[in-house]
Amino acid sequence: MSEAFEKIRDEEKRLLCRSYSRYPLAIVRGEGSRLWDIDGREYIDLLAGIAVVGLGHCNPELRAALDAQAGKLWHVSNLFYQPEQLELAEILLSTTHHDKAFFCNSGAEANEACIKLARRYMRKVKKRDAYEIITLKDAFHGRTLGTLAATGRESLADGFAPLPEGFAQVPPNDPAALEAKISPVTAAVMLECVQGESGVVPLPPEYLREVEAICRKRDILLICDEVQCGLCRTGRFWAFQHAGIKPDAISAAKSLANGLPMGAMLATEEMAKGFEPGSHATTFGGGALVSAVARKTIEIMSRDDMAAEAADKGAELKEELLKLQCEFPEKIKEVRGLGLMLGVEFRESARPVWEKLLEAGFICGLSHEKVLRLLPPLTIARDDLRKFAIALQEIAGA
Ligand SMILES: *Cc1c(COP(=O)(O)O)cnc(C)c1O
Repeated sequence: MSEAFEKIRDEEKRLLCRSYSRYPLAIVRGEGSRLWDIDGREYIDLLAGIAVVGLGHCNPELRAALDAQAGKLWHVSNLFYQPEQLELAEILLSTTHHDKAFFCNSGAEANEACIKLARRYMRKVKKRDAYEIITLKDAFHGRTLGTLAATGRESLADGFAPLPEGFAQVPPNDPAALEAKISPVTAAVMLECVQGESGVVPLPPEYLREVEAICRKRDILLICDEVQCGLCRTGRFWAFQHAGIKPDAISAAKSLANGLPMGAMLATEEMAKGFEPGSHATTFGGGALVSAVARKTIEIMSRDDMAAEAADKGAELKEELLKLQCEFPEKIKEVRGLGLMLGVEFRESARPVWEKLLEAGFICGLSHEKVLRLLPPLTIARDDLRKFAIALQEIAGA
């Protein structure tokens, strides 16, 4: 470890709250799918800031959009009409069956908006005192008190009780358990079509269609958390589109503004009736600067068919990874995922492999010790993916 790195590590200890366990790297520059650390070492980025930098680091077109807006207007608040927000809403809504958008600043906030709208819709429009949100085991919906309750993972809630009431959990892939949990107080089911934080676990399309049918039959809402799996990552614009379902609302964030903080809730005309002026608000949400960048991001994703790009590249990489699983069945337990959202689960800890990949210049994610999580920029070169597969083969075989 270099002196420069050790200095930054010590400074962080002195200056920041201890809430992160970090990878042993300080990154100072990025371009496309390449990153450089404080010592000038180059890396191929297969994590993209946790599925955020979908169109690559310092994307030139997005830089131009950012620069143009930066000289015009940054922020005026939601007290005003803002054309940038409308232009973004128009193009974002053209990618889905939803009719109305609400902009915020993060994934957790986008989920909070979904939860609040679901409850208020039930009370004000349906005239039912229904508030409970049913989520799935191993879900991740965020770290605010509300979304932590929705996440339902005890380890993450440690020391933060009491969490808000009105959340229940059922195991995934068990429609009977879901049906049994629904009661007159149930407002909605909320799920990730591909569970990200729990180690890239896609839910089967048949199950998702069954969940939708149950929601329709029992007249409750269906919400899809597309914060990680949305925006072309899985090979469709939205992950729910693989299953052909029509959730009443979805949340988006991570790659929405390619690295600037932004979240969005998209809802149907009907569900959106739950909000009136004054119901919900955020100071920063949908500001001019971030909206202009997000609009350009979505424009590029549509124009360049990044969903097809992710599907093709992801299929190629998955094939290579499946070959490695055949080659090393005693080490690799499972390869799973959709598009460029892939997980490689090892039988033992994946940490040694992850560390050697880092030494060889490849940055990937490590989930639950055993899963290598791959979320590269959607623009990554096929050659970089091949280099990664070769490096992984060498390291797994060593
Ligand atoms: C990252 C993530 C969130 C939380 O997003 P933040 O921007 O960190 O609040 C919520 N849901 C899913 C599926 C995520 O991956």
